[in-house]
Amino acid sequence: MSTNTFAPQSLQTHFNNHGHLKRGDSVTVVGAGAFGGWTALHLLRRGVKVTLIDAWGAGNSRSSSGDETRVIRSTYGANEFYFDLNVRAMELWKEHERAWNRQVFFNTGVLWLCHNEKCSIVDDSIPYSKKHKMEYEYLDKQDLAKRFRIVNADDIHHGWFDPYGGYLKARESTQLVLDTFVKEGGTFVNSRVMPGSGDVPGGDTIIYACGSWLGRMFPEELGDRITCSKQEVYYFGVPAANAAEYDNFPVWVDADDKDHYYGIPGNANRGFKVGVDRRGKPFDPTNGERLPEPEVLLHARGFLEHRFPGLKNAPLVESRVCPYENSVDGNFIFERSKEMRNVWFLGGGSGHGFKHGPALAELVCNVLMGV
Ligand SMILES: Cc1cc2nc3c(=O)[nH]c(=O)nc-3n(C[C@H](O)[C@H](O)[C@H](O)COP(=O)(O)OP(=O)(O)OC[C@H]3O[C@@H](n4cnc5c(N)ncnc54)[C@H](O)[C@@H]3O)c2cc1C
Repeated sequence: MSTNTFAPQSLQTHFNNHGHLKRGDSVTVVGAGAFGGWTALHLLRRGVKVTLIDAWGAGNSRSSSGDETRVIRSTYGANEFYFDLNVRAMELWKEHERAWNRQVFFNTGVLWLCHNEKCSIVDDSIPYSKKHKMEYEYLDKQDLAKRFRIVNADDIHHGWFDPYGGYLKARESTQLVLDTFVKEGGTFVNSRVMPGSGDVPGGDTIIYACGSWLGRMFPEELGDRITCSKQEVYYFGVPAANAAEYDNFPVWVDADDKDHYYGIPGNANRGFKVGVDRRGKPFDPTNGERLPEPEVLLHARGFLEHRFPGLKNAPLVESRVCPYENSVDGNFIFERSKEMRNVWFLGGGSGHGFKHGPALAELVCNVLMGV
């Protein structure tokens, strides 16, 4: 989960209306993660013939969408574009979980732990939360300590509780999107596309939504604009005596402007999930070993012991290494290739893209179909 705030204009500039795609045209989407899967599904529903290709399958363990859970929140500082995109995404997630008859959105709320009186990432979103009637609750230090007893609030100035956010089941919903796509008549192919070797899939239009792989696949156009870093999340075992207190804790973000630790407690009974949003080392998403870096884990343990003292010496019950597909400014990228005019690139999720999948895909379709 990335809590950076982004330049609001730069994403929109990529979304100039093109409108060259029509019903009955054929499109190949390469990559069945959150971006490609949802895009394929939306295009299919608009009457396009869609083939979706993935090398290792939807929500596979190498992909960014393959972890158990992802945070969903509208809070994006002063960036109204992402706030609004998430509001639309929430509607679409809810609509789809009803259709799937499976809960994938867990509305635990998001607790922001603010170190200073001014906490831009939340404060600057408050006008948008009011506009959407999705207001947050201010908690002073005393309220915070009383209501959330497992938190050490000594160095926290105040909290904000966003009751509308929570978490999504990531891997599971990515696979549900693919199942839905196939059920509704889309074609899925399990294969690796290697454009550099002259291996070009068919289709009037090709959309490459290959997450962390995109930069390396198109080095000349994207090489230094989408880079892959090694990110880690840890699942710590909670004490049996008060497991429910930890498991029922909301999604939380430690808004310290430095490391941005965050967590998703209780998710799918996997433990108290802690993630660190600091950019990790460059990473090879195909061959990189998925073992945590000892110093990053040690740092996370130090944080955990301080912020949640009851988890001092809690055992690490699982961990996951996951690639961030970082764009230069953290904004998503959707653009037409300069060299191949029927090719589009969709990516740059930059540690915050999962939740937006359905709404971003809708936007992509609107652009391509001129709506
Ligand atoms: C640790 C971590 C925490 C995160 N936390 C959050 C969060 O809390 N909230 C949030 O909204 N987002 C979060 N994100 C970001 C989010 O997970 C990603 O932005 C999103 O999943 C990206 O989806 P994608 O479809 O672009 O990429 P991916 O999910 O990686 O999908 C790309 C797909 O392309 C396929 N592929 C690659 N190369 C080829 C090829 N040559 N041929 C065929 N197929 C190919 C892969 O197999 C893969 O399935 C987090 C990411 C990480 C790593």
